[in-house]
Amino acid sequence: MSTAQAHDFATAATPLSEPRPEIAVRLDGVLKRFGDSIALQKVSLKIHEGEFITLLGPSGCGKTTLLNLIAGFAEADTGEIFIDNQLVTDTPPYQREIGIVFQNYALFPHMSVTKNVGYGLRMRGVPKAEINERVAQALELVKLHGYGERKPSELSGGQQQRVALARALVIRPKVLLLDEPFSALDKNLRLSMQIELKEIQRKLGVTTVFVTHDQSEALSMSDRVVVMSAGHIRQIGDPDTIYRRPEDPFVASFVGDVNILPGRYMSHDDQATLEISGNSLRLPKERVQAKVGDRLDIHVRPENIQLDNLGPHSLLSATVVAHAFQGDHVDIHLHVPSLGDSRLFVRQSGLNSLRRWPVGAVAGLTFDDEGVCAFTAADQT
Ligand code: ATP
Repeated sequence: MSTAQAHDFATAATPLSEPRPEIAVRLDGVLKRFGDSIALQKVSLKIHEGEFITLLGPSGCGKTTLLNLIAGFAEADTGEIFIDNQLVTDTPPYQREIGIVFQNYALFPHMSVTKNVGYGLRMRGVPKAEINERVAQALELVKLHGYGERKPSELSGGQQQRVALARALVIRPKVLLLDEPFSALDKNLRLSMQIELKEIQRKLGVTTVFVTHDQSEALSMSDRVVVMSAGHIRQIGDPDTIYRRPEDPFVASFVGDVNILPGRYMSHDDQATLEISGNSLRLPKERVQAKVGDRLDIHVRPENIQLDNLGPHSLLSATVVAHAFQGDHVDIHLHVPSLGDSRLFVRQSGLNSLRRWPVGAVAGLTFDDEGVCAFTAADQT
């Protein structure tokens, strides 16, 4: 897929019969340079009103830069940004009506919680009585009723982040921007904050752009996920599509765990026929992004590999080399002699699989179609 095509499908997935969603934020061909390096490469993106969209990608791929451009903290070199259908090139940050939550909370340390939350309203000259009422409502929303007189230093990390969220929401922003807001919190707190944020976002219907490099956070929270790498958008889609129908090898391996095995694209009729270790594997054609004859990297999700006794139906023969017990599941690591040094791992739930497949056991492997896709081998492209 060309870059231009890749950038233009933000709304293409909407069926024609449904009303077209309102666009809250639109980026058209936005390019941002820092010196000689390009942080964002002509990015185009339409964010629907009321949706929760997540920018997902590795460190340095341009997520924060994109957020800063929407907020008005940085200026695009080329391209245009629209908020609520208004071109905002010349609109300063405080007039864009945007709420922002940063990773490090960025609260004013000398101000009480109430003063922190009311800051944006005071700056906008809102009358005092209305400020008091709206701050109280915002603190109620983030479950900090009764904490108004405390200073940020008297709060836990999770509570400070709730204050930051209340401060961003109290101005009734057109768009809420969140830059890795939970990354400083421990795992349990992060999970409960994710659920709370989703509830609040749904209740208010506020358009939300969330930045993270954590795939499970992106998949669990978002209406749509924008996968980025090196300043490009690689794929936009709902979480299920991003996970099960990745359009390129980067998305397949960045979003979720995957085994990559060598194969070849032999032929196709109504389905594609691939060769793996002398056996043939049939797949829906749309799962194969390659030409007949290409060597392939075949991507298989670990939960989509079945272990059974070795038999005529087995696609591959493998030997168990290690287990990694994870509490709710176990990863069984296998060596596949017919694929040279290839190792792969299979994810199984339940402790029975530990007993059934001890180290040294020989198993036959088959793949569920659902979790398999193939791309032209990386060393051939
Ligand atoms: P992280 O997850 O680490 O925050 P990111 O995806 O948000 O990364 P950005 O912070 O947007 O990435 O950075 C994109 C690229 O632009 C990086 O190569 C970064 O080094 C560069 N960059 C960002 N801000 C500046 C700046 N102010 N000056 C120079 N280079 C910058």
